[in-house]
Amino acid sequence: MNVLLTGGAGYIGTHTCVEILNAGHNAIVVDNFSNSCPEAVKRVEEIAGKKVLLFEADVCDNRAIDRIFAENNIDAVIHFAGLKAVGESCEKPVEYYRNNIDSTLTLLEVMKKYGVNNFVFSSSATVYGTPKEVPLVETMPSGSPTNPYGWTKFMIEQILKDTAKANPKLSVVLLRYFNPIGAHESGRIGENPNGIPNNLMPYITQVAAGRLKRLGIFGNDYPTHDGTGVRDYIHVVDLAKGHVKAIDYAANHKGTEVFNLGTGVGYSVLDIVKAFIKVNNIDIPYDIKPRRAGDIAECYSDPAKAEKVLGWKAEKNLEDMCRDSWNWQSHNICGYK
Ligand code: NAD
Ligand code: UDP
Repeated sequence: MNVLLTGGAGYIGTHTCVEILNAGHNAIVVDNFSNSCPEAVKRVEEIAGKKVLLFEADVCDNRAIDRIFAENNIDAVIHFAGLKAVGESCEKPVEYYRNNIDSTLTLLEVMKKYGVNNFVFSSSATVYGTPKEVPLVETMPSGSPTNPYGWTKFMIEQILKDTAKANPKLSVVLLRYFNPIGAHESGRIGENPNGIPNNLMPYITQVAAGRLKRLGIFGNDYPTHDGTGVRDYIHVVDLAKGHVKAIDYAANHKGTEVFNLGTGVGYSVLDIVKAFIKVNNIDIPYDIKPRRAGDIAECYSDPAKAEKVLGWKAEKNLEDMCRDSWNWQSHNICGYK
């Protein structure tokens, strides 16, 4: 298949690109490099030993996207492109709604014009809002995200469901990611946040690298086994492999299907810090800080549907995630620069 990966130069996009190429497909990447760089795609080619067709363009630019579809025989689209910082989305809601929703609408218009009917979307566990119970199952209600970023994911899911209902040829797979961490085992690609990281693992690796002094742990009074927040961390390579299964599924089905991509196991912040220290033999000094606004105590998936329907299951463990995160960071102290 010829697979178009929007945002394919980003963290999850690059790892998925490698797996798409490894599975024998062709990869076409479109990215505006607002949060990435062309070097990341070069490294994908180096790891996979295959070429990627790369276009620098904004997915909201209808003419540019139209040209890419006109010139390439695209079979499936994986839509990663989007703005993703929760805090920033509260400060710049219009930019988030414009970028994330407009890019999706543009793709749907152009896909219809060129008769491309397979669409895989990067959704998020954030659409479940504050969980009433865990583990989270796909049939549980979504809605009430706590920030504009989460609302863009919720709204896009709805737009895609409505579009698939109106067009019986369309196949939509909504992948709700839990907490992706880790990096490709080569250490050549990985997460490369701009500025001070908001997420736990890149913060830890930057403390380990000496770029940041101490980790702040946001709250130790949650009703969890050690009082710190519990999440479902998933190795990004496992997550990437889920997309290969998703495009195969989309090619053989119609309508909309939703899948959690998680491990089903919840680890606390302290579990992660302790595992990182043990696996990499590096100290991570930390302080307990007040809870972060908008955080929830526990969030983890029931991944059974993805195993049953897609034949996909996360295979890597916490040790792999901690080792590979540090392998990437320690060999790329300043990211791709
Ligand atoms: P990322 O920022 O590394 O990758 C996103 C890519 O999209 C970047 O390369 C960026 O330059 C590009 N991009 C953004 N807007 C664009 C536009 N209008 N046109 C062209 N390119 C554009 O983020 P990521 O972590 O790889 O996330 C990929 C997707 O997965 C996003 O949609 C994100 O919301 C979603 N997601 C991520 C996480 C996570 O924890 N990383 C969790 C759940 C869902
Ligand atoms: N966290 C933390 N310190 C940090 C960043 C995150 O204690 O510097 C905690 C956060 O409160 C949550 C967990 O780590 O319990 C995962 O947070 P992250 O931002 O990585 O992902 P989220 O699940 O919030 O999307």
